[in-house]
Amino acid sequence: MSIATTTPEAAHPAFDVERVRADFLILHQLVRGKPLVYFDNAASSQKPRAVIDAIKHYYENDHANVHRGVHALSERATELYEEARVKVQKFIGAPCLRDLIFTRGTTEAINLVAQTFGRMNVHAGDEVIVSALEHHSNIVPWQVLCWEKHANLRVIPVNDAGELDLAALEKMINPATKIISIAHVSNALGTINPVKKIIELAHQHGVYVVVDGAQAVPHLRIDVRELDCDFYAFSGHKVYGPTGIGGLYGKPRHLELMPPYQTGGDMISYVSFAKTTWNELPYKFEAGTPNIAGAIGLAAAVDYVEDLEQSFLRIAGGSPAPLVLRPNKTDELPAPRPVAEHEHCLLTHATERVAAIPGVRIIGTAKEKAGVLSFVVEGMSALDVGTQLDLEGIAVRTGHHCCQPLMERFGIAGTVRASFAIYNTLDEVDVFADALEKIAASVKPRIAVPEMRQFQYAPATGANPIAVAEELASDFEILDEWKDRYEYIMDLGKKLAPMPDVLKTEPNRVKRCQSTVFMHLRIRPGTIDIVEFLADSDATIVRGELALLEKLFCGQRAVEIVAFDIHGFMERIGLEQHLSPGRRTGLSEMIARVKHFAAQVTQQSVP
Ligand code: PLP
Repeated sequence: MSIATTTPEAAHPAFDVERVRADFLILHQLVRGKPLVYFDNAASSQKPRAVIDAIKHYYENDHANVHRGVHALSERATELYEEARVKVQKFIGAPCLRDLIFTRGTTEAINLVAQTFGRMNVHAGDEVIVSALEHHSNIVPWQVLCWEKHANLRVIPVNDAGELDLAALEKMINPATKIISIAHVSNALGTINPVKKIIELAHQHGVYVVVDGAQAVPHLRIDVRELDCDFYAFSGHKVYGPTGIGGLYGKPRHLELMPPYQTGGDMISYVSFAKTTWNELPYKFEAGTPNIAGAIGLAAAVDYVEDLEQSFLRIAGGSPAPLVLRPNKTDELPAPRPVAEHEHCLLTHATERVAAIPGVRIIGTAKEKAGVLSFVVEGMSALDVGTQLDLEGIAVRTGHHCCQPLMERFGIAGTVRASFAIYNTLDEVDVFADALEKIAASVKPRIAVPEMRQFQYAPATGANPIAVAEELASDFEILDEWKDRYEYIMDLGKKLAPMPDVLKTEPNRVKRCQSTVFMHLRIRPGTIDIVEFLADSDATIVRGELALLEKLFCGQRAVEIVAFDIHGFMERIGLEQHLSPGRRTGLSEMIARVKHFAAQVTQQSVP
């Protein structure tokens, strides 16, 4: 799909997005008083009623354990579970049922391959190749394997557009190369990688290829036979199915030779204390009670997507494509498809709108892209942009998107990522782009930071942290709505005194925060137990949190800081409840930094 050439007007004429939206009840709600715009589909897509109903129907009518019972319910559950396998198998073009293993998702599928096939085929001095744009799920399993085997993990570079450097890959492949594991579509940038070309190249050199299809399955037609990959991994929850279910396709000749990944019930053929033998494929790799409802839900999702496509094709008067034989040539321009064309229009329109906003830079401008628009707003952290979009009811993802090496490649801490699905509309894109325009226009130029010697540590703002907390809490209690409290914190953040760059050192960096945070603590000169600090973050909302900590603790006695119930205070002002788990972790780390320092001071100052 070439973004530059398609305009919104090129949408498939039969595609009726309102009809699609009617199937997704969750979309019809207000968030923070505004109609929800859900653009976090690359993280997880929403579920149509058909999927929810299939799971509900299964639990209300057919649930029992599979493969083992002789009774009617068990037989029915087994039949539904295996029917689900047939549907998913056909959905990805796998030649037969034995090739499709149900897993918890992409992560488990890749770990399965690394820990079985990888262990069998990678030895000391060998090489495994991944690319610079992989999700951590397609890096860490290979990294761990390479550590264990004393093998080398090599990385295909990406260019400034976010495309793989295939010439570099060609040079990289050598007799030590055993496996290439590559994303079909990048979750952080949306790049569609030329996996078919990579597979052909790899196979010419006897190298196996694992494809991470997590972001491809929701957007492209996948035909694993046509691709000729050795393994293909994907997750159900990204393609309108439930969480906790996904799949791994593997060539049967590999699967036959691979040892089991996990052992226990269902994956055995016979067990004795002397010897145990494995069950046939695919059950050898499905130890324990499987996610039966998940598989049934995933099959319903697959049916939903197929039916949608077929029904719009019928409306358009086109001949419906056969359901079983999926169109080939996944790497090439796809045949006209209503769903793909609609998603492509969304991406094109969003790209055009966002590219025109001053101060916004798109990260990832590959020629072939699917579903994802990543960008940064100059002068504002991704976290602040995401938080402000959330106040408008717009859900996007911010941060490194589990692609830290890729962020490093682009020299950024993270991006804001809008990702699209079949139920999104061009109007939603406009709502998002209008909001982004305002956010980008609100960025203030950075004030020059004075020299270190001119720096002032904040004085105490009250007799002790309890007294300060009372004052602060009464300020917050006047503000009923979270939105107003949020703005109050943002305001505090804007006023937080800057921190000199010389103090922004690695030891002063607070880890496990979603943004970049530094804190420099010291005992006030001339005292033995008065704590003071300077702090900074690239996110204004986090600067606001730091400002609260500064008001509470800066200039206070260490013993009072240690004794103060900070989490109780955060709960009282509503901060704990309104933070995502990730942000809560960051705040806890900042608090721990102050508390830990104060505890050390207390011990030192005890005579
Ligand atoms: N690979 C890619 C490209 C992804 O986008 C994701 C999830 O975002 C994963 C792997 C991991 O998927 P899961 O968490 O469903 O196992």
